[in-house]
Amino acid sequence: MATAPVQPLDDRVAVITGASSGIGEASAEHLASLGATVVVLARRAERLQDLVARIEKNGGSALAITADVTDAAAVQAAADRVEAELGGADLLFNNAGIMLPAPIEELRIGQWQHQIDLNISGLMNVIGAFVPQLVKNAGERGAADLINTASIAAQNIFPNFAVYSGTKAYVTHLSRHLRTELGPKHVRVAAIEPGIVGTELQNHVTDTGALEWLDGSKETMDWLTPQDIAQTIGFIATLPPRVNLQQVTIMPTGQTS
Ligand code: NDP
Repeated sequence: MATAPVQPLDDRVAVITGASSGIGEASAEHLASLGATVVVLARRAERLQDLVARIEKNGGSALAITADVTDAAAVQAAADRVEAELGGADLLFNNAGIMLPAPIEELRIGQWQHQIDLNISGLMNVIGAFVPQLVKNAGERGAADLINTASIAAQNIFPNFAVYSGTKAYVTHLSRHLRTELGPKHVRVAAIEPGIVGTELQNHVTDTGALEWLDGSKETMDWLTPQDIAQTIGFIATLPPRVNLQQVTIMPTGQTS
């Protein structure tokens, strides 16, 4: 009987948040194709089950965990399950997020809070629950990865995107700091900062000005695809353990800001 070819992430356990659509979904499929056992986490259970079925059909290995990352106890329970069933994560793609632009004077306080709760507090819940596993497994295996999804909005200035951009600047700056703490423990920390990627992210936008801007941009450039980001995540994770690609800004070629 023919044996399966060795894949670069064969012995890795990758947890991906926000895996029920867009960038997370594509990354889960790609990391599984590189050999990782992937744990896919989000709130929509049915979407996760479909993803697991697709990965398994292609010969990969996957586990779905339905959880809201803004619920710290639920995230900790997910981490405990990953530890018990798979020996813990050694790759965390901390990716769940939402973008809700609006002029600041409209005082959309609920939308501000939603973005802060998910993009900052949710991201921290995931870090809190999984960093002990990353450190433990990096010590035992020689390398682990923590990859956080920021955005080009962490760097550039977009009127009406102030709160979203603020949350993503937090992600990039946090990642730089964490690298100095965790790098010596063999955990590589990276922030990925995409420009516009065609996903469900745009479907949540209610601000008409932002929607017009997004629609207009489709006429002038080819948006990135979730698979473009997935390939980049795979590239970061398959570098030799001594290499930490700490910050990647990835733009549609035609996007100017
Ligand atoms: P999607 O809307 O397609 O994906 C967002 C994911 O987050 C979904 O899987 C969603 O699943 C999950 N999610 C939302 N809320 C929660 C929650 N409370 N708990 C757990 N999971 C949650 O958008 P993208 O793939 O584009 O977004 C992924 C990341 O990329 C985000 O952080 C976004 O800010 C960032 N980004 C996106 C860009 C783009 O242009 N698309 C550009 C730059 C950065 P569910 O609803 O099932 O929970």
